[in-house]
Amino acid sequence: MNESPHRPPVPAREWVVGDDGWVHGARALPSPNFEARPEGTVPTLVVVHNISLPPGEFGGEAIGELFQNRLDCSAHPYYHAHLRDLRVSSHFLIRRDGALEQFVSCDARAWHAGASSFLGRERCNDFSIGIELEGTDHVPFESEQYGALAALVRILVARYPIEALAGHSDVAPGRKTDPGPYFDWPRLARDAGLADRYFPYRHR
Ligand SMILES: [Zn+2]
Repeated sequence: MNESPHRPPVPAREWVVGDDGWVHGARALPSPNFEARPEGTVPTLVVVHNISLPPGEFGGEAIGELFQNRLDCSAHPYYHAHLRDLRVSSHFLIRRDGALEQFVSCDARAWHAGASSFLGRERCNDFSIGIELEGTDHVPFESEQYGALAALVRILVARYPIEALAGHSDVAPGRKTDPGPYFDWPRLARDAGLADRYFPYRHR
């Protein structure tokens, strides 16, 4: 490990990936927006995103409600009208304070990446785990979020044959911009103890 001397090490967390692909210690908010992964397909990729609802506002339950198809579109009609018929999900959301929420089992296919391609392999949802960070492209993420993300990535890499991590913008260029310019990839690599080969879009 190559911990930075300028900040405390990532604290250990009581998170364990259960046999059913749900992380014990995470807040479970099951989403109906998933399906089985294709036969014989295991997760080999982690896709990092950011999301906030309404955009730029943190806290509240709108993200979970969106993933559970129960977002009240009348509450914020300007922002939510275009989300009304959207069917999306992610495996995880890391809140601003580092709290972890899970919506879909890691063993199932969540609907987070959309039309996408990882180094030429299409349909990233088939073979990836999606992690949303509560945030935007326009403000830095919180230290608590990096700590939680590193801890989560460590247990996922230990459990699944993860070969790489990428941003949504890497696998859907021109269509998506998240996790955005403030996301600190070297910090994640350091804190999660991952070698350069896990980051093919940053070390080529
Ligand atoms: Zn995204």
